[in-house]
Amino acid sequence: MVHSNVLVLNRSYLPVHLTSVKRAFVLLYRGVAKALGEDFQTFNFYELRVSPDEIQSLEGEVIGTMQGMIRVPRVIVLDHYDHVPKRYVRFSRQNVLVRDGFTCQYCGVRLPKSELNLDHVVPRALGGKTTWENIVASCFECNRNKGSRTLAQARISLLRRPVRPRWTHWAHSFPGKVRYKEWQPFLHVVEQRKMSDVNFESSRA
Ligand SMILES: [Zn+2]
Repeated sequence: MVHSNVLVLNRSYLPVHLTSVKRAFVLLYRGVAKALGEDFQTFNFYELRVSPDEIQSLEGEVIGTMQGMIRVPRVIVLDHYDHVPKRYVRFSRQNVLVRDGFTCQYCGVRLPKSELNLDHVVPRALGGKTTWENIVASCFECNRNKGSRTLAQARISLLRRPVRPRWTHWAHSFPGKVRYKEWQPFLHVVEQRKMSDVNFESSRA
């Protein structure tokens, strides 16, 4: 429970990252963040305390502390933090496929992940690196057709330039992480946009 995730919002209610319940309690206790309730009402640390007869209805979302039983927040808002930090998504096969919408970046066909390869845009043989900027999802056929040629040599083009995605645009997927219904209102902004509309930030050169 103390290691489960809490969504952290900045002062403008934009998701900035996930933290542990333990860390969230520290922020609440220090008074730099408030917990957000279902109706967007805010609670400080002490207002999260629950009476013994409330505990039953909270279905285990309660933790015993030195200050008594405290309701576990699933969303907290930072009081003074305006920024959306530049956090980047871990480079992995799964995350590249998610970024590319499980769509071959050459022919535009959407496929199950078992039918997609990762392709080096600039071939490895020509010094192409295994990075967000040089790896795209590709169907087997395009992968084979392109071989170890450049885009120009193979006379093909990419649907869009591959870039390293920013974490905040990734918030809808949280690969490998449990998500809570309380997060929904804040992730909605992100989810409304189609992957192709997502304004990925280009990486720093
Ligand atoms: Zn293809």
